[in-house]
Amino acid sequence: MIISIASGKGGTGKTTVATNLALAVKQGVQLFDCDVEEPNVHLFLHPEITRTEPVNAPVPKIDLEKCTFCKKCMDICQFNALAVLKKDVLVFENLCHSCGGCFEICPENAVIEKDRSLGVIEHGSVKGISFIHGKLSVGQVMVPPIIKKVRSYTDPDMITIIDAPPGTSCPVIAAMKKTDFILLVTEPTPFGFHDLKLAVETVRVLNIPCGLVINRVGIGNDEVNQYARKENIPILMEIPFDKKIAQIYSRGEMIIEKLPEYKEKFEALFKKIVQMIEKNRENNGEEK
Ligand code: SF4
Ligand code: SF4
Repeated sequence: MIISIASGKGGTGKTTVATNLALAVKQGVQLFDCDVEEPNVHLFLHPEITRTEPVNAPVPKIDLEKCTFCKKCMDICQFNALAVLKKDVLVFENLCHSCGGCFEICPENAVIEKDRSLGVIEHGSVKGISFIHGKLSVGQVMVPPIIKKVRSYTDPDMITIIDAPPGTSCPVIAAMKKTDFILLVTEPTPFGFHDLKLAVETVRVLNIPCGLVINRVGIGNDEVNQYARKENIPILMEIPFDKKIAQIYSRGEMIIEKLPEYKEKFEALFKKIVQMIEKNRENNGEEK
């Protein structure tokens, strides 16, 4: 069972929900921090990191002894990562998406694969939770391969909770697709409402069941609730705008450990998610 926690924008409390939900799940749980540009789950849970693994991607290196400067590689590259000159071929590694097109098309076998380091993933554990996060190297922009690497460790016998990056771009899709449920975290403000609508559009394209957690209830207005009703998106939990919660968050602590009533609330949230996943599977004629 894979649950992705997402939000249309940063700062809505997505990581708070992901970490507290992971702690509330009693069965074996994996928590993946896929916000690889700015991972912060480790700042709250302080996992013991036991293994670091590099994430590389192939980029081309041109053998100028073999190259005939035919420009076929440049023409096939959709990302303008190659410029064939009269007697040289320039490779702009940061533009390369490692699609492999130039390797395949070169008639002279002049394109050699070279590894470019994109970042690392780190494995660890904390409080019975199996933890993995990805970290993008400074200056790199290729996020999806790191997210895919993290997700390659999904254990089908465990509950997998993914803290997705904020927004609605390619990295978010990489963290949300092929999951069983998407939990959208938002806040009842005009910005929250605007970005929620974009996030819901993305979720609808992926055709994955979703539900809502509204954080900081009490600020802003009622637009998010009205929208949720209109779009038939269940509001699974509301977290009030509360000084105590803000203080716990600012100290990097867990709500369910400091405010016992929230343990039950997060357990109830998990139960509702499981029910929705099972209902969706029944509707699709899948076995539980
Ligand atoms: S396709 Fe091969 S031979 Fe042609 S320009 Fe590119 S590297 Fe050179
Ligand atoms: S691997 Fe793909 S993206 Fe990279 S340079 Fe070759 S054709 Fe362009």
